[in-house]
Amino acid sequence: MTVRTGRHFLQIPGPTNVPDQVLRAMSAATMDHRGPEFAALTTRLLEVIKPVFGTSGPVVIYPSSGTGAWEAALVNTLSPGDRVLCFETGHFSTLWEEMARSLGLRTEVVPGDWRHGADPEELARRLAADTDHAVKAVCVVHNETSTGVTSRIAEIRRAIDEAGHPALLLVDTISSLGSIDYRHDAWGVDVTVSCSQKGLMLPPGLGFNAVSAKALAARERAGLSRSYWDWIPILAANRRGMYPYTPATNLLYGLAEAVEMLTAEGLPQVYARHARHAEATRAAVRGWGLEVLCADEREHSGSLTAVLLPDGHDADKVRKIVLERFDMSLGAGLGRLAGKVFRIGHLGHFNDLTLAGTLAGVQMGLTLAGVPADPAGLPAALEVLSTP
Ligand SMILES: *Cc1c(COP(=O)(O)O)cnc(C)c1O
Repeated sequence: MTVRTGRHFLQIPGPTNVPDQVLRAMSAATMDHRGPEFAALTTRLLEVIKPVFGTSGPVVIYPSSGTGAWEAALVNTLSPGDRVLCFETGHFSTLWEEMARSLGLRTEVVPGDWRHGADPEELARRLAADTDHAVKAVCVVHNETSTGVTSRIAEIRRAIDEAGHPALLLVDTISSLGSIDYRHDAWGVDVTVSCSQKGLMLPPGLGFNAVSAKALAARERAGLSRSYWDWIPILAANRRGMYPYTPATNLLYGLAEAVEMLTAEGLPQVYARHARHAEATRAAVRGWGLEVLCADEREHSGSLTAVLLPDGHDADKVRKIVLERFDMSLGAGLGRLAGKVFRIGHLGHFNDLTLAGTLAGVQMGLTLAGVPADPAGLPAALEVLSTP
């Protein structure tokens, strides 16, 4: 058995490090989910969670992974054979599109190079060509966790509006919620999909749908089969502070604590902190003489950075060395990026020295793996962090 000292550095872009106060909140005794104490907790939680999504509408919480929340968004709003426009921004957008197909939807994929976000101009062209409004929904992943590229949702919304197109806008914010500026209402998003284990600083196990009035109206017509994921019985039970089945009680205690932490810091401050850590990380990558995968200055992710290795070098070897020598987990390259990139998660419960330690570990790992990396990388990041 390997003896480890100190804390493991969990620097994958989710699950993220869970703060001690959240762990403590979750360790409270499990309560009766049909009793008055739970009803009071739920009623309060369903209100305080709304600002995190930037909405005044309902937020449905499932005991599920993010994948479940994807399915919920689709089955509550669409009918078999409906056409759905899916932007291919990376691995996660591809998985969501595959799910849509497997549910009996007809998907139209806008291909991408995995270095850019969803293109609002391409969306405008596609919607202008769809004169009979066959497209029922547009699916975009806000922050592509496989690439570290953030799509410009406000511009996506504008493209839909300018085309005068009635399609629903479904957005995955699984690795951006609570880390990168996001506004469900202001950006006219119809269903915002999220889950617990990334910017919300919780263990895996909660899925979310924030739902617009237009999405609720679409639910009335939507013909896909649904039962567990159906919003209607959940929203009805929620009005009494209840769920139609046993909710993940202890995760909800943790959620209340995590939302409290985000609120105390202030959401604008939370977003600024993430943006600054992302900027320092990019300074390190460029200082090493390596390339950031994201190719558009407007689309750098605040929550993670994917680092492209030079040809002939294996990103998984770097990750293995960093794990074995420094007890730090980094994100693997996913799908077509396997072995070519590693991902540094800098989201959630995180501060300047966590980042400094993370980047120090990466720099040492690069050197040990024989990747040509200029040691000027780490000081470049520290300079960003120590700017007054
Ligand atoms: C992590 C992630 C998912 C998948 O969430 P699970 O909880 O693993 O089902 C989907 N989309 C994005 C953008 C993610 O980062």
